[in-house]
Parts: sequence; structure tokens; C-alpha cells
Amino acid sequence: MYDYLIVGSGLFGSVFAYEARKNGKKVLVLERRLHVGGNVYCEKLENINIHKYGAHIFHTSDKKIWDYVNQFVEFNNYVNSPVANYKGELYNLPFNMNTFTKLWGIVTPNEAISKIEEQRAVIKEEPKNLEEQAISLVGMDIYRKLIKGYTEKQWGRSCTELPAFIIKRLPVRYTFDNNYFNDRYQGIPVGGYNKLIDALLDGIEVRTGVDYNESRAEYEGIAQKVVYTGPVDAYFDYKLGQLEYRGLRFETERLEEVNHQGVAVMNYTEREIPYTRIIEHKHFEFGTQPVTYVTKEYPANWQPGEEAYYPVNNECNQNLYRQYKALANDENGVIFGGRLAEYKYYDMDDVIASALKCVNDELV
Ligand code: FAD
Ligand code: UDP
Repeated sequence: MYDYLIVGSGLFGSVFAYEARKNGKKVLVLERRLHVGGNVYCEKLENINIHKYGAHIFHTSDKKIWDYVNQFVEFNNYVNSPVANYKGELYNLPFNMNTFTKLWGIVTPNEAISKIEEQRAVIKEEPKNLEEQAISLVGMDIYRKLIKGYTEKQWGRSCTELPAFIIKRLPVRYTFDNNYFNDRYQGIPVGGYNKLIDALLDGIEVRTGVDYNESRAEYEGIAQKVVYTGPVDAYFDYKLGQLEYRGLRFETERLEEVNHQGVAVMNYTEREIPYTRIIEHKHFEFGTQPVTYVTKEYPANWQPGEEAYYPVNNECNQNLYRQYKALANDENGVIFGGRLAEYKYYDMDDVIASALKCVNDELV
């Protein structure tokens, strides 16, 4: 008999498994995919780590989480500084003095502030949706060139139907600083994310290619408790209806070039180009290989059974999630955790913090 049956080998499941085992618990991890790691998994091709499920940059302000991951793997000094490409015009991200000077030909922070003040004046009340929030943060020009098209293709909805919080993730700075994140600590694991996951799951029994929801009877009674990190609605067989997710499609190409775009992430912000970004993987690790791999990321409508990438946290889905959450709370012997089970737009550091809290509460 196992103490914990852990469904899903992403960061939540792997951190939980590691900590439980360290505390003498017997754990079994089930994973639907044919590999472990969830969305941070990388595939190595010609010595380049390909981020199979989209670009992943680790960043956190929490020293405890930084120290936690650093005990398993060293991190390099990569700083994410994506470039936005709007109809062939290039702008630095996040929105900072480099963006403002290129856009308006201005020089000083005060000039940038006045420009934005002038353009945001159309928003008079508390922003109710992403469009109003964006205009109120950075004004109309940036909204039109760098936000509207990107966001609408990313989410498949109009900016007026999206929650304001999505855009608040991005810093707005009146300094010449292209660091996409405000966090104190940032980097990519040296040798790739698989090293982190492999270290967490070292010595732990893992079965890949097993969908727990399809083979639940087989695993009934095998463990004292289940830790479920898959989609919460799938666990309950969608009985209250389906939560919406945003899907993605990745197209990866090998190019006989040393350096294709000069940056790891280039965002395509116009509506007409169907992909949102092109990732050139080698730049995450300062690669010097003679070839390169690039991946176009296409947002896609999501159907049940496909990989669920982003929860769509609008009001309607949040209401449905609250009902599933009530069912989850009543489910004896099952812990629901992680991005899919909590239907939350978690970053990696948030997921690790949440898994650590959860396992520590369990083990006291
Ligand atoms: P997941 O990684 O999704 O793991 C869940 C696992 O459970 C999966 O392996 C899945 O196959 C498995 N599973 C599901 N259902 C079942 C079942 N029924 N039976 C068995 N197994 C099952 N965060 C950052 O901090 N920085 C970034 O730059 C960043 N970029 C991102 C880019 C993209 C495109 C996406 C989608 C996310 C990004 N994130 C980023 C978020 C990050 O991926 C997540 O925070 C983290 O991976 C979540 O871990 P998790 O364990 O909760 O979920
Ligand atoms: N965003 C944008 N233009 C960009 C980059 C981001 O409008 O060039 C918006 C978009 O709405 C996106 C949100 O900012 O969903 C958050 O961006 P982030 O890069 O944090 O998204 P993620 O990496 O999670 O996809």
C-alpha cells in the first residue's frame, strides 16, 4: 500500500512526491504523457534543449523557492528580454523607455509619462476589462500596436471580454530596462528543466502513459491518499460542464543557421500573423551550436482530450470552477493541486510554493 498516489508528474506532483518520500512516505506517480515533467519538459536535439510546451523562464522573488530549486540544479543568468515585432517594426518589451523612445521619438521619462497620461485620459473609471486596463496602463498607441492583436489571438476573445489581471502581469517602467520580470531571481536550469524534474523524482516509482481518470478502478485503494494535479473538471467527468482552456499548437523547425532571430523570444503582435511568438531555444542557454531550432507558437481553440495550456479565468469559468471546488472539498482522501486542478494561471514558482505548503500541511 502506498501512502500517496500522485497523479501528474509536473512541478506540483514532483515536488509533492520528493518531499513525501524524504519524509519516509511511499509514493507512486502516474503520468498520462510518455514523459515526466508536465509543461516544463524539454527534448534535447543536437545539444539544444527544446521547450516542448512553450518557453519556460524561471523567475521568483521568494528566496526560499530560489534556494529550494537551486539545491537540485544550478541556474544560468538568462534574463528574459523579448522583442515585439509589429508589422516588421521592432520594440523592446516589457513596456519601458526603450519601447517609448522607439514609438514616440521621446527622450526623457517625463515626456513618456505625459504621452501616456494624455492617451489614458479616455479611461475615467476603474478598468473593467483588459482593454480598459491596458489603455489605462500604457495608453492607446501601445495598446493598438503591442497588446490588442497579440492578446486577441492569444485568448481567442476580444480584449473587452477578458479580465484585467492578465495584462497586470507585465511591468511598465520608466527606465531603460528590458528585463521582462520584476523578480529578484531569474534563470534557466543549467542543462535544462529535465534535470530539475529528474532530481525531484530520483528513486520514485513512476508509471508514464497512464491516464488516471481512465484507469481509476485499477488504482482504487492502492494508496491512503490521492494527489490529483490534472484538470479538476476531468476528475469529475465534466458532470457540471466543461471549464474552458486555451490550447496551443507548436511548430518546430531546424534551421542551418547559427543565429536566426538574435533573441530567445520574439512576439508577433499584429492580428494577421497567426502565431503569437517564435522561440529560438538555444538563446535560453547561450548556445553556440552550428544549427538552431525555432518554434512557432499558435494559439488554438481547445477541445476536451487535448493538452489544456491556459485556464480561461473569466467570470463564467470562475463560477463553474467554484462549483467544482466545492465537490473537490467534499472528496475524501483526495488533494487537488497545481495549475489544472486549481484552475489557476500559476507560474512555476507559485506551483512549487503551493506544493510545498500542501505537502507540509499534510506531513505535520
Ligand atoms: P503541469 O505541468 O500541467 O503538470 C500536470 C501533469 O499532470 C501533466 O504532466 C499531465 O500530463 C498530467 N496529468 C493530467 N491529467 C492526468 C491524468 N488524468 N492522469 C495522469 N496524469 C495526468 N511559468 C513560469 O514560471 N515561467 C514561464 O516562463 C512559463 N511559461 C509558460 C508557457 C506556457 C506556454 C505555459 C502553458 C505555461 C507556462 N508557465 C510558466 C507555467 C508553468 O508551466 C506552470 O506553472 C507549471 O508547469 C505547472 O505545473 P503543474 O504541475 O501544476 O502542471
Ligand atoms: N501581452 C501583450 N503583448 C505582448 C506580450 C504580452 O499584449 O507582446 C499580454 C497578453 O494579453 C498576454 C499577457 O500580456 O496574455 C501576459 O503576457 P505573458 O508574457 O505574461 O504571458 P504568458 O507567457 O503566460 O503567455
